[in-house]
Amino acid sequence: MLYLALALLIFAIFLFRQSSTQRKEAGLPGGRIIYTDTRGWGKVEKPLFYTAMELTGKPDYLVQQNGKIIPVEVKSGRAPEAPYDSHIYQLAAYCLLVEKTYHTRPPYGIIHYENRDFAVDYTRELEESLIDLLVEMKRDEHKKDVPRSHEQAGRCAKCGFRNHCDQSLA
Ligand code: SF4
Repeated sequence: MLYLALALLIFAIFLFRQSSTQRKEAGLPGGRIIYTDTRGWGKVEKPLFYTAMELTGKPDYLVQQNGKIIPVEVKSGRAPEAPYDSHIYQLAAYCLLVEKTYHTRPPYGIIHYENRDFAVDYTRELEESLIDLLVEMKRDEHKKDVPRSHEQAGRCAKCGFRNHCDQSLA
């Protein structure tokens, strides 16, 4: 069976199509700044799987807090004002994988930037929004053309697909 490669580039392609309007409609939590002690973070050696959604992925770290398992995604670079939608969805997918693998629901996940950490609540709304996204991705998986939905050259300039994408603005 073909698994969706979570956190891989297909996610990036798809998420770049999401607009901030959709973000508001989806009610994505923006994330709150927290202070974390990295000493308790355990490296994840093997990917996690959720076969029902054909989903797999490997958070950078898992940390145990009050009997809960919290996934941590590490991002290079300085923190934006609020986590990017793509980072939130990626973290949400890790929360889903943790819940399905360890049978305990993470109340939140952590996005770790160079200078700041954000906790993103793993709400039912975020989970539903993620599931909708995964279903949509699955539906579009075999489409040859997936139209660009933004006009931001800066996004394309930083995109790993720029050299292969026929809609690149950069
Ligand atoms: S190059 Fe631009 S349009 Fe193409 S996938 Fe990347 S962000 Fe989207």
